[in-house]
Amino acid sequence: MGELPLRVFFHPQRGAFLSDEAINARVARYRGGADGGWRELKGVQVEQQKDGSFSTSGRLPAGFVWGDPSRQVFGLGGPALVYGPLEKRCRDCKVDFVFTAEEQRHWYETLGFFLDATAVRCSSCRTKRRRLEQARRAWELASKAVDSTAKSHVAVVEAGLTLLERGGQVKREKLMMHVARAEKLGANVRALRERLGAPLRR
Ligand SMILES: [Zn+2]
Repeated sequence: MGELPLRVFFHPQRGAFLSDEAINARVARYRGGADGGWRELKGVQVEQQKDGSFSTSGRLPAGFVWGDPSRQVFGLGGPALVYGPLEKRCRDCKVDFVFTAEEQRHWYETLGFFLDATAVRCSSCRTKRRRLEQARRAWELASKAVDSTAKSHVAVVEAGLTLLERGGQVKREKLMMHVARAEKLGANVRALRERLGAPLRR
């Protein structure tokens, strides 16, 4: 048998909290206070063994998953024995979203993120940022690869247009300059000129 039978509490903004007594001002002091958002996950129990490992019993409610501390990078937080759906507001679009238990397990146990890290953007804004970042890298690579061929100038214009379309910043005059160079080197630049002149589609 284990050393310390712990009850599992959950708060939709603060996450899971293990305690051998009910949530009160003292035990929740470091978890943002004992407000009305805490509830106990009934019938779920965690026991810490003498060797420091944990054993778990009971069935988690839908939307919750068990964590595996041996796969987590603690930082200042953790271990995380239980993941539950966290209610968040996106920093970029201000829409409410849920950072799901499955997503958390993926972040902390597969991707190797610190337990202190948390999602501050909804998944569509995260995707948007990732695509912008990819476009920025592609733009940098294409800019570095410019040589005396028409193809390299066309490539840099295409990368620049993609970056603009994804919300990045590129000087249009700079792109026009590469278009002119490509044309001088024999490329057909009509389509590129049209894209450069057209209003942005996001
Ligand atoms: Zn968002």
